[in-house]
Amino acid sequence: MINICFSIVIGTSNFFVVKNKFLYVICCKIHKVHQLDKFIQSVWGDKPLTDEMKLFVGKVHTYYQALEKIAEKKTEKSEEELKLSEERFRNMIEAAQDIFYTTDKDGNYTYVNEFGVEKLGFPLNELLTKNYTQLIREDYVKTVKSFYFKQVMAKQKFSYLEFPIITKSGFELWVGQNVQLSYSGGEYNGTQAVVRDITVSKKATEDLKISEERFRNLIQNSLDVITVLDEQGNIMYDSFSVYTQFGYEKPLIGSSVFDFFHPDDLERAKEQFAKHIHIKGITEPMEYRFRTPSGDWRHVEIIGNNLLHDPSIKGIVINSRDITERKKFEKALVESEERFRKLVQYSTDITTVIKADGTIIYESPSFFRLFGYSESLIGKNVFNFLHAEDIQKAMTELGRAIQMGGVSDPIEFRFKTASGDYKYIETIGNNLLAEPSIEGIVLNSREITERKKVEKELVRAKNQAVAAAQAKSDFLSNMSHEIRTPMNAIVGFTNLLIEKGFDKEVMEYLFSIKYSADNLLFVINDILDFSKIESGKISFESIDFNVHELLEDSLKIFKSKADEKGLELKLDNNKDVPQMLVGDPFRLNQILINLIGNAIKFTNKGYVEVSMKTVSTSNNKTNIAFTVKDTGIGIAKDKHGIVFESFNQGYTDISRKFGGTGLGLAITKNLTQLQGGKISLSSTVKVGSAFTVELPFRISTKKVSHRDNDEVGQEKNLSGLRILVVEDNKMNQFVAKQIIEKWNATTTMANNGSEAIQILTVSNFDLVLMDLQMPEMSGYQATEFIRSKSTTVLNPAIPIIALTADAFSETKRKVFEAGMDDFVTKPFNQEELYSKIIKHIRNIK
Ligand code: ADP
Repeated sequence: MINICFSIVIGTSNFFVVKNKFLYVICCKIHKVHQLDKFIQSVWGDKPLTDEMKLFVGKVHTYYQALEKIAEKKTEKSEEELKLSEERFRNMIEAAQDIFYTTDKDGNYTYVNEFGVEKLGFPLNELLTKNYTQLIREDYVKTVKSFYFKQVMAKQKFSYLEFPIITKSGFELWVGQNVQLSYSGGEYNGTQAVVRDITVSKKATEDLKISEERFRNLIQNSLDVITVLDEQGNIMYDSFSVYTQFGYEKPLIGSSVFDFFHPDDLERAKEQFAKHIHIKGITEPMEYRFRTPSGDWRHVEIIGNNLLHDPSIKGIVINSRDITERKKFEKALVESEERFRKLVQYSTDITTVIKADGTIIYESPSFFRLFGYSESLIGKNVFNFLHAEDIQKAMTELGRAIQMGGVSDPIEFRFKTASGDYKYIETIGNNLLAEPSIEGIVLNSREITERKKVEKELVRAKNQAVAAAQAKSDFLSNMSHEIRTPMNAIVGFTNLLIEKGFDKEVMEYLFSIKYSADNLLFVINDILDFSKIESGKISFESIDFNVHELLEDSLKIFKSKADEKGLELKLDNNKDVPQMLVGDPFRLNQILINLIGNAIKFTNKGYVEVSMKTVSTSNNKTNIAFTVKDTGIGIAKDKHGIVFESFNQGYTDISRKFGGTGLGLAITKNLTQLQGGKISLSSTVKVGSAFTVELPFRISTKKVSHRDNDEVGQEKNLSGLRILVVEDNKMNQFVAKQIIEKWNATTTMANNGSEAIQILTVSNFDLVLMDLQMPEMSGYQATEFIRSKSTTVLNPAIPIIALTADAFSETKRKVFEAGMDDFVTKPFNQEELYSKIIKHIRNIK
C-alpha cells in the first residue's frame, strides 16, 4: 500500500526505476520520518546525494511528515473513540445475557458482569474473593482445571468447554464457557471468559440421548426381529433379536434378505417386495419360512414399512415375528377340532345346540339316526318336538340351567320321532351362551326308553312290595288284635280263677294255662315289634322317667321266675347315674326285659345281675351302659355275631329245650341302634354271659318322680265308683266286670262308641274304660265327640282310659290326641289298671 502511495507521491523517474530495490527497502523498513536519514546514510554512506536523490528524499520527508501528522490526528481521534467504544462494550457486557468475567492468572475472579452476579447468586464482593473452580460441580473440578492448565501451557488463545456449576442457592447449571487468555508483555496474566447457561439445551440433548438409547434398546431387545433393507433387499441393519430368535452369531448386514427365505416362499417374497418398494407405509402381515443357521425353518410373520423417503431411515423396515409355536398350536387345534367333530359324529349320544329360546342351531348326525328325520331341524324350536306333558318341566329345568350359568341336572322328556311316536330321552343342558365359539345351550341326550320301561317295572314291583309289606303289617296288626282279645279273656279269667283258689291239681292246671298264655303274649309282641322295625314304622318317645325305678321294676317282674329256678337276682343301681332322664322308658324296659328274660332262661344256677353306669356326660347329655350278667350256659365265641340275627337261636337243640322265637336279641339290637346306642356281648361257655347296652339320654330337669302305684300291696277298693266299660268283645266285657266289681265299683257295659255316648248323655259316671277298635264307632271317634264342643254327654271332662291291644308309640299318641287321659294294655295287668283308675279319680277329686 505504501509502495503505491509512495510512487504516486514521488512520481516516476529514472532514479526511482534504477533504485527500485532501494525504494522497496525504504518502503519496507521505514515507518517514521527520523528513521529515513539514518536509513539513507546506512545504505548510501557519506557520499553526497544526487539532486534527484535529494529531491526524492525531500519528497519522502514531506510525505512522512504528512503521514505523521495524519497519524497524530488519528491517535487523538482514536483515543476518544476507544473510550467511547470501551464504554459501549462495557455497557454491552453489562447488559448481555451471558456471564462475563475475568480472572487473574490464578483463576481468582477480578470482574463479573451484573448478569453473572445475578445468575450465580453470589454478591459481587463475595464472588471477587472466590476462585472460578469453587463454583464447579465437585466431580468436574479436576477435568476443568486440567483443561485450562493445558490451554495455558499451550498458550492457546481461545478455548470452549462445557461443565456444570453450582449456584449460591445450590442450583445446578450447565454452562458453555469461552475463555480467552490475556497476556501482558508476553506474560500470561489472566483470563477473560464469556459463559452461557446451556442447561436447557444440555437437558434437551441429554433427553434426546436417553430417548435414543431407549429406542435403540427397545429395538435391540424386541422379541420381533427388526431389519432395515435397501431398495435391493440388502440388509442395512438388524436388531439384536436376530441372534436370540434365529440363532445367528453375527449381524446379517450386507447379505440379501432373500438368501434366507424358503425356496417355496421366495418367488412370492420377491414379488411382494417389488410391489412394496413403490408404496409408502405399512404392508399387510405376511407369512414366510426363514432359515436359521442350523438349516431349520422357522415360520415368521412379517410386516414391512416402506420408509425409503424418510431421511433418517432411507430403507424398508421389516418387523419379523417367530410364529412357529403358534403355527404348531394352530395345527394341533385344527387336528383336535377334527377329532372332536368325528367324536360327535360317531357318538351314539346326541348333541344338540339350541338358542335360549329353544331354536335348534346344531344337531349331531346321531340325531337323525335316533329320531329318523331325513331333514335337518335347524331353525325349528326344540320344544315343538317335546311331548305336551313334558314341555313345562323341560322348560323350567333348562331355564334354571340358563340362570345358574352351568350344567343342569338330567332332564327327562319324550321327543317326537319322524314316525310320530315318542322316545324317552335324558338330557343334560350346558349353558354355553357366553362362550363365543358356541353361543348356545349344548344338550347332551341319550335314549332311555328301555330304562324307563325297567324303571316303570321297578316302580310297579316296589309298589307291590310296599303293598305286600303293608298287607303283612296290617295282617299282623289285625292278628295281634284278634289274638290279644281272646288272650285278654284267657289271662283275665285264669287270674280270677287263681285268685279264687282251688285244690292243688286244679291250681297247677291254672298256672300252666297262665304260663302258656304269658308266653304266647310274648311271642305275639315279639313278632309285632319285629314287623314294625322291619317296616321302619317304629318311633321313640322322648319323655322324663326315673331310670333307677325303671331298673328296679323291670327286675321285679322276674322275681318269681328267678325264685322258681333258685337264682339270685342282683341289682347294682349305680348312684352316679342321674335319677331322671329323658328318653323312651318303654323301649328301655323292653330291652332290659329281653335281656333279663334270656339271662334267667339260660341260667340254671348262680345269679343274674343287672347294673348301670354313666359312660360319658357332656352338657345335658349322657350315655348310660346297662349290663345284664348271668352265670349261665354262655355263648361260644363263633356264635357271638349270629345270636343278634333275627330268627337265629345259636343252638337249635338248646333253643328247643329253652324255647323262644329267636327274635329277642334282633329286636333288642335294633331298638338300641335306632336310638343311637350300641350293644355288645362278652361271654364264655359254661361261665356266663354279659350283654351291655349303651344308650344316649338327655338329663331331665324334672324332680325325682314318686311311683304312682303307692297302692301296690294295699287292699284295693273302688267302692262307690261308677265305671262305664266300652268294649265290643263279650269275654273282655266279662273279665273287666269281674275285676272291677271285685274292687267294689259298679260297671255298665257299652258295645261300641255310639252306645257309650248315648249312655253318657243320660247317666253320670266317674270314669270310662274305652276299647279302641270297635264296630260302628271306634274309641277314638267316641272320645273326640265326648270332648267336642257339640258334645251331648253330661260330663265332657270325664276321665277316659284307653284299653289298647298294643303299646306302640303311634297308638299312644293317637290315644292322647283323641283326648283320652291314659291307656292300659290288654290283657290287663290288674295292678296297673287299678293304679291308673285311682290316679285319674284322684285328679278330679
Ligand atoms: P330266643 O327267643 O331264642 O331267646 P334271642 O334272640 O333272644 O332268641 O336269643 C338268640 C339266641 O342267643 C338264643 O337262642 C341263645 O342261643 C342265645 N342267647 C341269648 N341270650 C343268652 C344268654 N344270656 N346266655 C346264653 N345264650 C343266650
